[in-house]
Amino acid sequence: MKVIKKIDEMRSAVSDIKSRGMSIGFVPTMGYLHEGHLSLVRESLRKADVTVVSIFVNPAQFGPREDFKEYPRDLNRDSEVLEREGVDYLFVPESDEIYPQGHKAFVEVYDLQDKLCGRSRPGHFRGVCTIALKLFNIINPDISFFGQKDAQQVIILKRMVKELHLEVIIEVLPIIREEDGLALSSRNKYLTQEERKAALVLSKSLKVAQSMMEKGQRDSAAIIKEMKEIIGREPLAKIDYVEIVDIDKLDPVSRIEKKALVALAIFIGKIRLIDNTILLF
Ligand code: AMP
Repeated sequence: MKVIKKIDEMRSAVSDIKSRGMSIGFVPTMGYLHEGHLSLVRESLRKADVTVVSIFVNPAQFGPREDFKEYPRDLNRDSEVLEREGVDYLFVPESDEIYPQGHKAFVEVYDLQDKLCGRSRPGHFRGVCTIALKLFNIINPDISFFGQKDAQQVIILKRMVKELHLEVIIEVLPIIREEDGLALSSRNKYLTQEERKAALVLSKSLKVAQSMMEKGQRDSAAIIKEMKEIIGREPLAKIDYVEIVDIDKLDPVSRIEKKALVALAIFIGKIRLIDNTILLF
């Protein structure tokens, strides 16, 4: 595996790959890799000739009071893991080169960026879109792999790709969970033992939503009420939001009459965790 830090060097590797007619699969991450990330990596290795993984903790997607500094990092371990998986290139750009002093260009997907997580994380999706576009421009991937874990992120990025006429295909893969249901996340590392148990309210309440739906419940308010009760019984959990929305506009739906997204963000102690499930017909 070749580790590349400089944009120019990445670009020349990319043009070499392209000149040989090979396809590029790309997995953007913020590192501290777990099985969720690796499910994307493995799919890329299966589908593309060459796999590029990036690790970049993107300052532009963190608010001033968020955990940019504390975000877990372990580049040595991550590179070993990726090397073992058979990844071809690891791109670890430096912040100064991605956002040089005086940087002014940002990408926004209006409206969608303000819903769900956007409400409590203003500017987050602007940061996400900007880094995604930058990385797509540098790496020029044929396919880029993302997790359903960040449901709003994939909806917004797909919209950006469509409306800005990018050629990359966005492929979305299922949420990888611990055996007890907790969705894998780099931030889980910060949960104490007690918080780790409390964090199960996210997946538990989503399961209840699924089963109410299966039993014929179509009233979003009834499902949300039940979910909030489950979460409310856990003293360490504080709700940021619990919503059922349509998957195009991310607007709340009152009656579930087609595919809908149940999404939630919950603080467990100081750690903000997200999870979601799709209600299908
Ligand atoms: P991150 O490093 O948190 O920016 O995540 C990088 C990619 O991994 C994103 O596309 C995430 O949606 C995806 N991802 C994170 N956690 C999971 C998970 N538990 N299951 C599947 N994909 C995940």
